[in-house]
Amino acid sequence: MRLYLAVFALLVAVHCEELFNGDQVLRIQAESEDHIQVLKELEKDMDWGLDFWTHGFSTERPIDIRVPHASLYAFKDFLMENNIPFTVMINNVQELLDRERAEMVSNAQTERKTKSFNFAAYHDLETIYSFMDTLVASHPNLISKVKIGSTYENRPMYALKFSTGGEKRPAIWIDAGIHAREWVSHASAVWIADRIATDFKQNRAPVPSILSQMDIFLMIVANPDGYVFSHISPREFHRLWRKSRSVTSNPNCPGVDLNRNFDAEFSGPGASDDPCGEDYRGPSAQSEIEVKNIADFITSHGNFKSFMTLHAYSQLLMYPYAYSGTNAPDQPELHDVATQANKELYSWHSTIYKVGSIFHTIEQASGASVDWAYQRGIKYSFAFELRDTGKYGFLLPADQIVSTARETWLALRYIMQYVCDHPY
Ligand SMILES: [Zn+2]
Repeated sequence: MRLYLAVFALLVAVHCEELFNGDQVLRIQAESEDHIQVLKELEKDMDWGLDFWTHGFSTERPIDIRVPHASLYAFKDFLMENNIPFTVMINNVQELLDRERAEMVSNAQTERKTKSFNFAAYHDLETIYSFMDTLVASHPNLISKVKIGSTYENRPMYALKFSTGGEKRPAIWIDAGIHAREWVSHASAVWIADRIATDFKQNRAPVPSILSQMDIFLMIVANPDGYVFSHISPREFHRLWRKSRSVTSNPNCPGVDLNRNFDAEFSGPGASDDPCGEDYRGPSAQSEIEVKNIADFITSHGNFKSFMTLHAYSQLLMYPYAYSGTNAPDQPELHDVATQANKELYSWHSTIYKVGSIFHTIEQASGASVDWAYQRGIKYSFAFELRDTGKYGFLLPADQIVSTARETWLALRYIMQYVCDHPY
């Protein structure tokens, strides 16, 4: 019996440590309407265990899907039978995960030893929250930590407020990490928080002049429960978790896609009504406390002029609408601003982004935060999909964090300056 238990424990350990061993990410290119129909059916079919890393079925853009090892050969056969072309983008997901974890462990040791913070590393929620406290303590006249509410699992949700004074000045909102697995968005936001503080302290244009007229609110972790879950849970490794962690009508499928839960064409096309779907919209608009907290905070503040949200991956700089292909009333101006911001971004490392509306660059999405912000009169609403274009996908190596943050900062800075120069 004891031997049996020991073997069982070992099997469990091996299974948990190597949850993604042999999983591949396939890039699939639909070439016809028939292919698109087949792929749409696949998305509803939970039996394969497919994890859609990108969405939006079209003959113009490929999509990336993580295929569990157990389904891999059957799935490739299926694609070949249907003459749907594909390539292997990531040969073994577990290898990237192992490297990432090893780097995090060794970085945490170094940080503990040197009592420093390494911007070129991924951090857990606790470390990010303690970084925020340190930043606030070092810049008490500029930065404060605003608690905007608590999560489903009762974790605090914080925004950093950068302000030189005044009551409810016009403000800029930036959030990151509403999708838990998009780690480079959190890590970039950490770097950007430090950069705003440093630029202000060193009187480096244009930050001081922006902050003489406007406040900046930066929420580094918009989905704390999901982020914690994407690090480590007691039994399994859930690095690729996207949603929140609330209980749904299906006990096997917790979590809501927070970026489909905003009160903007909620429950329209471009979100799933199945709790097991990666883009499950939730039972009602703002049913999720995290979404409600953000929406209530922005609404009660009442003077936000810009709303920006950081995601990954695909290298896109986008504006409303997500829910529809019709042009937003401010589309020409938003397109110009995004195009100029993109030039700034490109100037650093020549990273190529695409600019356009969410609907036209990725996919139709209902309940998205930028549509919500725009429909509530926040004209300068933008969504970023940061690096890369799929070589590593959500598992972007940490040595790309700082360059990603730097180029993103140039675009954000341009937009913030523009918003400041164009009051409305
Ligand atoms: Zn996202």
